[in-house]
Amino acid sequence: MMKHVLGAQCTRCGKMWEARPDITVCPSCGGLLDIKYDYDSIRKEVSHEVMADRAEQSMWRYMEYLPVQGKGKRPKLRVGWSPFYRADHLAEVLGVKTLYVKDDGVNPTASLKDRASAMAVVKAEEAGAEIVACSSTGNAASSLAGNAAAAGFESYIFVPSRAPKGKVSQLMIFGAHVISVKSSYEDTFRLSEEAIARYGWYNRNAAINPFLMEGKKTVALEIAEQLGWKMTDYVALSVGDGCTIAGVWKGFKDLYETGMIDRLPRLISVQAEGCCPLNRAIAENCPWEPMEENTLADSIAVGVPRNAEKALNAIRESNGIVVNVSDQEILDAAKLLGRTCGVFGEPAGVAGTAGVKKSLELGLIPSDSSVVSIVTGNGLKDTPNAIRAAGEPTEIGPDMEELLAVMDRL
Ligand SMILES: *Cc1c(COP(=O)(O)O)cnc(C)c1O
Ligand SMILES: [Zn+2]
Repeated sequence: MMKHVLGAQCTRCGKMWEARPDITVCPSCGGLLDIKYDYDSIRKEVSHEVMADRAEQSMWRYMEYLPVQGKGKRPKLRVGWSPFYRADHLAEVLGVKTLYVKDDGVNPTASLKDRASAMAVVKAEEAGAEIVACSSTGNAASSLAGNAAAAGFESYIFVPSRAPKGKVSQLMIFGAHVISVKSSYEDTFRLSEEAIARYGWYNRNAAINPFLMEGKKTVALEIAEQLGWKMTDYVALSVGDGCTIAGVWKGFKDLYETGMIDRLPRLISVQAEGCCPLNRAIAENCPWEPMEENTLADSIAVGVPRNAEKALNAIRESNGIVVNVSDQEILDAAKLLGRTCGVFGEPAGVAGTAGVKKSLELGLIPSDSSVVSIVTGNGLKDTPNAIRAAGEPTEIGPDMEELLAVMDRL
């Protein structure tokens, strides 16, 4: 709750600002801001018992850790408290001792981005805004459009024209004003920033708006609670702009600092081989450099990561592991998750799992590890790639002879 919020601190110059709902980057130097909490005061109000007694089953379950008014309005869509599965069959296939799958594809607009968008809508309301806007590889867009529609906001959405039809169709159904930009995500982002400055819309661009990471971190709070507050050795997820991994790390640190968990997991940062600027910076221990956006996992095809600093920090601080996966490995992971868990993820959604598989194969993590793999987006958003992964069904006429002829191929 706001009473636990100390302010918004600049990650570059260190200045602390009041955490006003419309604050974005540091007014003094333009650096990214980070919301700071009074951990001692949170610690006095939370415990495992307090959480166990809590009825709320959404991301708003963790009010003490969130920068919103205690009794403020909550969005209508139910975001968060997504399923958490023990994936024994998949663990056996991958050759790892313990594996859990956190399926964030079941959120209202079918991706983890709903956690940030729900927060954006709350903060937009506090800021007195009426129009919200963002640029996105697809999911931030569809989730902002959905959460905005539920709250009665207008939304302006910028997407690169390569965004999959499933996501674009969500935007159209939610009634967003959609601008499809015939260029890279990088160019799309730049145009959206210009337009937002010009029209004064509420800015949901995740790296720029410090509150959004606070929404995303709730996935980590849930994972910890769903594990009975006993952390695994590793948490794996896919990385694009880097807001999610930074948020996940912040969530675990918040819990650690307030005595809710007694150890921190190591993060496994998974990027696509064709677009891995952050992982490359870690692997080569050098500043990150822009890369081309060569992967079918559109949600992590981010050549110029907007939250590089916080993401690199998160990976380094957690003594994290970086692993890059090929498009084929991503498609294979989609099939594997579907077949062993009944979980259907979009390419970027399953990339984390592909990364777990590869980390084991490369010996980056030992086989007696415990791992959580976060599935960040639903497979129905991108059915062409699902079909590419799993193939077309066998087609026949309505005839028993024809069925018998193909039975051995099914
Ligand atoms: C946005 C997104 C990611 C990556 O999150 P970043 O904050 O951009 O690093 C991963 N998977 C899916 C499905 C996404 O939509
Ligand atoms: Zn600053």
